Amino acid sequence: MQSLASGMSFIDLDFLGVPRVIATGVLHAAAGVALVDPGPTSSLPTLTSRLADAGIGFADVTAILITHIHLDHAGATGTILRQHPHIRVYVHQAGAPHMVDPSKLLSSATRLYGADMDRLWGEVLPVAAAALSVLRGGERLDVAGRSLEVAYTPGHASHHVSYFSAEAGLAFVGDTVGIRLSPCDYVLPATPPPDIDLEAWERSLAIYEAWRPDTLFLTHFGPSGPVGAHLAALRDHLSGMANLVHRSLTQDGDDEARERWAVDQTRLELTRQLGERDANAYETAGRLDLSYRGLARYWKKRA
Ligand SMILES: [Zn+2]
Repeated sequence: MQSLASGMSFIDLDFLGVPRVIATGVLHAAAGVALVDPGPTSSLPTLTSRLADAGIGFADVTAILITHIHLDHAGATGTILRQHPHIRVYVHQAGAPHMVDPSKLLSSATRLYGADMDRLWGEVLPVAAAALSVLRGGERLDVAGRSLEVAYTPGHASHHVSYFSAEAGLAFVGDTVGIRLSPCDYVLPATPPPDIDLEAWERSLAIYEAWRPDTLFLTHFGPSGPVGAHLAALRDHLSGMANLVHRSLTQDGDDEARERWAVDQTRLELTRQLGERDANAYETAGRLDLSYRGLARYWKKRA
């Protein structure tokens, strides 16, 4: 467990054996423990053993805070709750029904990941409705000895929320500020289908600026700052990718050829900036083909 602030740490889930891809935030105090985005069931053994190394068992966990219900963030929740039904789960109101009945979420994920579903995510179990505390944004939560502000922050996902500790100057922002695998400083937006919304996204970034955090905490991966430089890089790369996808849609050929062209462009740029090993780690956190499809869908919906 690596420290962020007093009573706040994070764990590297070593997703698929790759370090720095998925981070779970851990808030710990005498009052209990809260986890921010427990990750997928495939990395639950790592989460469990690294919590145990820090002297924490799931019996100590009082709350799980979900930024959004994508399987790399929230997939393990039902499996954890089956053994530990006392844990309260916080999730946005638009995501909550899919935690209670994950069948639609699973069929849409299966369209994206196909036969790789089980290897990537492992088991996905439903969560009892009674265990959920449903958020809309604007709440203040008292969990694990911390007071957290909740904001509704769509853009990457229509049911995305973020959590801010003013006292620690730390904002848990899920996937809304993209992927940055420190010590690399490159910021890669993740824009998978189905609900990329660039206008809503910009409003979410303005909420972070109003919070004035010292540090952003990204699921992919960990603490990032300075915040101004991070957000500037995100805006720059998000509009660059959106423009590239938009341009591809006017090209001759079929969707597959357009996707291949745009993904190749992005991969070349990533590899040029980062080298092959780090570029591959970025792609494990956010697949470029899926980011293409999310933005293509955004543009087609707008047209
Ligand atoms: Zn993610």
